[in-house]
Amino acid sequence: METTMNKYKEVYEYTAKVLDIIEKTDVTKEEAQWITSETVNGFRENVNSGFLEYRKSVTKGGQYASVEWKDSGPNCFIDVNGKEYIDCLGGFGIYNVGHRHPKVVKAVKDQLDKQALHSQDLLDPLRAMLAKALAMLTPGDLKYSFFGNSGTEAVEAALKLAKIYHHKEGRSTFIATTRAFHGKSLGSLSGTAKGVFRKPFIPLVSGFRHVAFGDIDMMKKTMHACHMVGEDVAAVIVEPIQGEGGVIIPPDDYLPKLRELCDEYGALLIFDEVQTGMGRTGKMFCAEHYGVTPDIMTLAKAFGGGVMPASATIATEEVFSHLFDNPFLHTTTFGGNPLACAAALATINVLIEEKLPERAAEMGEYMLNGLREAAKGHENKVLEVRGKGLLIGIEFVSDEIGYEVAKGFFDNGVLTAGTLINAKTIRIEPPLTIEKEQCDKVCETFAKVLKEVDKAVLV
Ligand SMILES: *Cc1c(COP(=O)(O)O)cnc(C)c1O
Repeated sequence: METTMNKYKEVYEYTAKVLDIIEKTDVTKEEAQWITSETVNGFRENVNSGFLEYRKSVTKGGQYASVEWKDSGPNCFIDVNGKEYIDCLGGFGIYNVGHRHPKVVKAVKDQLDKQALHSQDLLDPLRAMLAKALAMLTPGDLKYSFFGNSGTEAVEAALKLAKIYHHKEGRSTFIATTRAFHGKSLGSLSGTAKGVFRKPFIPLVSGFRHVAFGDIDMMKKTMHACHMVGEDVAAVIVEPIQGEGGVIIPPDDYLPKLRELCDEYGALLIFDEVQTGMGRTGKMFCAEHYGVTPDIMTLAKAFGGGVMPASATIATEEVFSHLFDNPFLHTTTFGGNPLACAAALATINVLIEEKLPERAAEMGEYMLNGLREAAKGHENKVLEVRGKGLLIGIEFVSDEIGYEVAKGFFDNGVLTAGTLINAKTIRIEPPLTIEKEQCDKVCETFAKVLKEVDKAVLV
């Protein structure tokens, strides 16, 4: 009894102290030190010490202990010691409308002030309105939306939709692609390609095959083989441009041909636009570059405007109608909650108002040229700079050089993303609101860092 009370007292005082910190926008030097040590120790003792080792691999000296604190305008953030970074990682593509866009923040605050979460039983208005906006916005006859909280949930819903669509026929084979990333819950992970992520958790969902991304002949052979052995394909799932895999852009005719192939074999086509959607690649949805409409499309990451976690799985009526008889077949408590819907509605509004897809195309082109220019004369280190819109990948000749460049970027106040699947490639995925001068700074930093890497690695 006594010890329980002591424990509660201790936890109460600790949480009270943290709440005081949360209340503050700026902190003193002493507070910054306390926050840093609590964070590093907390990661070591109570989160996962592996993260500290990872941070050490992508930073110089003691910089692994940098603790983020607050945003600084739409395109930057500040660590607890006041150092500013241009956010070229963009939360792996969360911040398409910038950090804390005022319109998104206002919508969420307005909603929060009247109702945070839904009753779970009555009809909630914003879910209906967001679904309508999405039906209007997305290509082709995509019409009905299921809302979740994360990319992997959006993919799970897509896979279950494909299964129920083919339920009577008993089709349950899925084809995904090599280097694909669809998330890490067991269903999505079955589609994800990287062995390191999958192997400890095998067996995954049965019926998944992987074929080389971009290889339409192999896809056709595999679809045919599946048919021959009586395991017809329920759906093919692809990212229109692979993000985590290292910004892999398929041949121009790949997705149109994939659409034809799926139609020929009666398989559904799922586009995972969790990373490529919401303007990232220079169109609202990457599918629009190729004039292809999938049967099911997934959205997350930037969908909540960088303010709320939110995801959507949108499908045609033909597919989605299989959930009409029993809408409780697939549900989630928090998916489509009013705060998330408010954020997503505001995000769509901002993307259109500020013409951010067009801006992504323009600034992407500018950044791509700048980075290529900076890489000139460094062919011994940089294999390729590629991208579409503001989804850009810099591929190095080795992991080691990739890590060195990432460290140099970070040291100079530019945050970039080594992709989780392919450490050789650094991704540049800034807010679509990034300014020209900030692009220039990133390219200048790249040039500078490449020169330094010469000294560090090649001698
Ligand atoms: C990030 C990502 C996911 C997983 O999203 P989470 O929100 O991390 O679950 C799925 N698909 C693609 C294409 C992604 O980039």
